[in-house]
Amino acid sequence: MKRACVIGWPIGHSRSPVIHNYWLAAYGIEGEYTAVPVPPEELKNFLQNLPAAGYVGCNVTIPHKQAAFGYLTVRDPVSRAIGAINTVYIRDGETYGVNTDAPGFISSLVAGAQSAGWQQTPAAVLGAGGAARAIVFALRDAGVPEIRISNRTRSRAEELARAVGPTAVVADWSSRNDVLAGCGLLVNATALGMDGKPPLDIDLAHLPTNAIVTDIVYTPLTTPLLDAALRRGNPVVDGLGMLLHQAVPGFELWFGVKPEVTPALRAHVAADLEAAE
Ligand code: NAP
Repeated sequence: MKRACVIGWPIGHSRSPVIHNYWLAAYGIEGEYTAVPVPPEELKNFLQNLPAAGYVGCNVTIPHKQAAFGYLTVRDPVSRAIGAINTVYIRDGETYGVNTDAPGFISSLVAGAQSAGWQQTPAAVLGAGGAARAIVFALRDAGVPEIRISNRTRSRAEELARAVGPTAVVADWSSRNDVLAGCGLLVNATALGMDGKPPLDIDLAHLPTNAIVTDIVYTPLTTPLLDAALRRGNPVVDGLGMLLHQAVPGFELWFGVKPEVTPALRAHVAADLEAAE
């Protein structure tokens, strides 16, 4: 039986077991996926002992994504540029790390958006943390012509823009409303709007009404930002899609089957999120 897990500190919040155990059952695979709390001082040891402990791999979540990057072989150039990983797998005795948030974000957008117009117009990204880094690199590689990054701490946005290259420009956090003019996509990649955090303070007046608004926060599923966007007629993509799509590559690497993100899986995980509220 193949065993995989998700590690974090704490780990109770993770929905990864719900997703992977759904797929294991759906595809009739004899496997197990559990949540394992790993404190920061044990992370290196845990990752080094992963094959010996009988795991085929694991997911890595808060607060370990950046530290794990330093303990593993990372081959994929986008993961290297992001500087953080969320998926670990073993090949020929070596332990590798990869970041699947970038392809997960794009797959979610493609699946959830009614048109591909967002690829030809400027995008506004709020945030410059770990998730925002993955998203900005993913948008650059998807061909978005200009990415306007606003972050409360401007220096983090500047560092990200430098790493991404001339496609990325920095907009001051105080001008986040103004930079929405002419954008085909707005992404909230901050933690604002999440249950227990303040809502994102933003005025959408300058955003074209056909621009896609996406929030990577998924608790609640309809964040105050998405609610405001829906009320003025913008198409929206919620954060659950990214969560589901980022899980696909890991499952395939560990269990050998590329799983599908279906409406039934989405309903299953959404019900679990609702029950936890
Ligand atoms: P992170 O690295 O800690 O970054 C947090 C970001 O939020 C930073 O840009 C930070 O700005 C900003 N922020 C936090 N509090 C703020 C405030 N009061 N005012 C303005 N900005 C604030 O976290 P992360 O890993 O990028 O995750 C960000 C969010 O995305 C979390 O809610 C997480 O659950 C969610 N997420 C979702 C998925 C998915 O699959 N849907 C995947 C990954 C993450 P500063 O730089 O100024 O601190």
